[in-house]
Amino acid sequence: MRRSGESLDARALLRMDRSARLMERAVKRLPGGVNSPVRAFRSVGGDPLFMERGEGSTIFDVDGNSYVDYVMSYGPLVLGHAHPDVIGAVERTARKGTTFGAPTEMEVELAELVCEMVPSLEMVRMTNSGTEATMSAIRLARGFTGRERILKFDGNYHGHGDALLVSAGSGVATLGLPDSPGVTKGAAKDTAVLPYNDLEAVRGLFGREGEEFAAVILEPIAGNMGCVPPARGYLEGLRELTEEYGVVLIFDEVMSGFRVARGGAQERYGVVPDLTCLGKIIGGGLPVGAYGGKREIMEQIAPSGPVYQAGTLSGNPLAMAAGLVTLKAVREPAVQERLEDLGERWKSGMEAVASQGDLPYTVNQVGSMVSIFFTEGPVTDFASAARSDTKAFKDFFWHMLSRGVYLAPSQYEAGFISTAHTDEDLDKTFEAAREWFAGGRG
Ligand SMILES: *Cc1c(COP(=O)(O)O)cnc(C)c1O
Repeated sequence: MRRSGESLDARALLRMDRSARLMERAVKRLPGGVNSPVRAFRSVGGDPLFMERGEGSTIFDVDGNSYVDYVMSYGPLVLGHAHPDVIGAVERTARKGTTFGAPTEMEVELAELVCEMVPSLEMVRMTNSGTEATMSAIRLARGFTGRERILKFDGNYHGHGDALLVSAGSGVATLGLPDSPGVTKGAAKDTAVLPYNDLEAVRGLFGREGEEFAAVILEPIAGNMGCVPPARGYLEGLRELTEEYGVVLIFDEVMSGFRVARGGAQERYGVVPDLTCLGKIIGGGLPVGAYGGKREIMEQIAPSGPVYQAGTLSGNPLAMAAGLVTLKAVREPAVQERLEDLGERWKSGMEAVASQGDLPYTVNQVGSMVSIFFTEGPVTDFASAARSDTKAFKDFFWHMLSRGVYLAPSQYEAGFISTAHTDEDLDKTFEAAREWFAGGRG
């Protein structure tokens, strides 16, 4: 049976002196010691580990510990850390200058490649982050429809733009913040929120007020409350309802894009949105986001149309170079099959060891996005994800870390597998988990 303080035992096994000293300095100058809240270890207790370098599936911290990494920078590193082709392209490009504020050939090349891989995109605009992509897509949908309200879903995260920072997943869910101070009532009042995977709720709302809505935005596979796949018929149903009421359907594929199929969740499930937001993998580890879709809508963006959106560093050569190499790799069917295969093995391997223990668990997996929840499940929305025993997760997290496996420090983040992960990495992960489920924790 579970003893309290097991996570402390596990922690004592790790050398963390240099990380601890860096954190002491960091908290003096960076709020919470970090530049993004999910990096802090708030929900698992203790201080974050400071990383020194990464290679393939492995990260090395400043105290000399190494870990099989399932964070992979929260998604971008689908080819693993410091992939030689990505690094080579970035090095070669950097020598020619890092930014011009004028168009370059690589921007055209990446736009063409993205539109080829995700056929619902007839045109695309590059940004510097997923947040910018979703904010801009919302503005565009409002400009295009002349309507103001948007619908999002509980536990879905679309970056930190004001209108979307309502009932959000990821760090917002981890820290238990229902809404963020600083988001004005005005910015939030046009955002309606419904439970994920509940088509009837959308039908009800749209039956009354559908014509007031500019857009529905969702993660077609949720990854920011842990991994939660769409229920059968859910995406199709949203497509039909948005068409019926003249609402722009936006798939936020910042996480799922290029990962769950070369054309993302829309290819995997065969449902075509009007606009798509991209990020993470599209930049191959450098800061990139993008939004794109139907020509008719995209041509509303300045300078071809009146909806304004811009960026000093948007489409910069370094980011385009890393993105091009990465997307060309994941375009290969063999690479997609490998990701799929690793994800399936992760699910069955974790289920095999978890079934030996005495705790309820649910493993969710779509391609190389994975999650284990400590609840009987099924986990289909934020309410069921939130039933997970987060104390057990905390204990599991520290145990895995002490055995050299780096998971995201939150129940509400998906795990990411890269093409660099090996069978040995997975076996090591299962063995560490087996020990914990068998009770030899700490
Ligand atoms: C990560 C993420 C974002 C935000 O992207 P940033 O680059 O962190 O701004 C938006 N939507 C989804 C689905 C994400 O996973």
